[in-house]
Amino acid sequence: MPDTSPFSRVTVLGLGVLGAQIALQTAAHGFATTAYDIDDDALVTGRGRLDAFAAQAAAQMPDGDAYRAAPGQIRLAADLAEAVREADLVIEAVPERLDLKREVWARVGAAAPESTVFATNSSSLLPSAIADATGRPDRFLALHFANHVWVNNTAEVMGTPRTDPAVADRVQAFAESIGMVAIRLHKEQPGYVLNSLLIPLLGAAAELLVKGVADPETIDLTWRKATGAPAGPFQIYDVVGLRTAYAIASADPRSAPFAAYLKEHYLDRGKLGVESGEGFYRY
Ligand code: NAD
Repeated sequence: MPDTSPFSRVTVLGLGVLGAQIALQTAAHGFATTAYDIDDDALVTGRGRLDAFAAQAAAQMPDGDAYRAAPGQIRLAADLAEAVREADLVIEAVPERLDLKREVWARVGAAAPESTVFATNSSSLLPSAIADATGRPDRFLALHFANHVWVNNTAEVMGTPRTDPAVADRVQAFAESIGMVAIRLHKEQPGYVLNSLLIPLLGAAAELLVKGVADPETIDLTWRKATGAPAGPFQIYDVVGLRTAYAIASADPRSAPFAAYLKEHYLDRGKLGVESGEGFYRY
């Protein structure tokens, strides 16, 4: 009989931008939550992130009190083995480096109970590149959240060919129980569903702009009117942030003209998108 039991104790590894949000969301939905980071200094920084995200989420969500209370309910740990010893589910959100993730998972695999399920929040690494390091590839998969998890509440559930489908079912049920819209993938895909769609759209918009075909307002208007989408690609660029857009464009020689355009017209003038008050639009 496959195990279909819900998880009750969840440990999040890494209290950075995403780990803090995942821990907050999990605790705000009543799960016993532990958050691990490398040392006490990192935990102090992480605690500050929890408080800041809790204030943001409380202002944006109807159940604000649950978010306000959540940071105080999260157990903080700087000892990895102790942090995962009683976990039903471990969600990893450590920096996006394959060697680091494999090393962390090997340590978690040695310390966690045999029944514990493991999930990585990696954005760009395929879970099959990490699976064997965990020592239990059948209980390992990707659970990918988006930044500002409480409002941008997709959770992409993506196994490897070795993931037990019953484990993916349990992770999907967990994601839904913390307020996520679970997106189940049938096979591994770099970029999951979201970025597989979004990155080509943003790239095509950038090309139309630098070729001089149309301006950002016209390109966005076309996309919104013709498809009913609430935002066009340049509105999305402003939300993502133009520093990130520049970093991505600079990494691909085919996007060099857009990288140069962004630098000259936006970054060098302090226009970084929504966060600076101006990007392709003013805020
Ligand atoms: P971050 O740099 O903000 O946080 C990483 C955290 O991990 C830090 O608190 C750091 O102290 C900690 N850390 C470093 N080494 C560690 C170790 N050995 N063990 C445990 N913790 C360690 O990074 P982030 O933006 O939160 O990204 C984390 C993961 O989430 C990455 O895989 C990233 O691809 C993914 N992700 C990020 C976003 C995003 O928008 N930032 C969105 C979806 C997924």
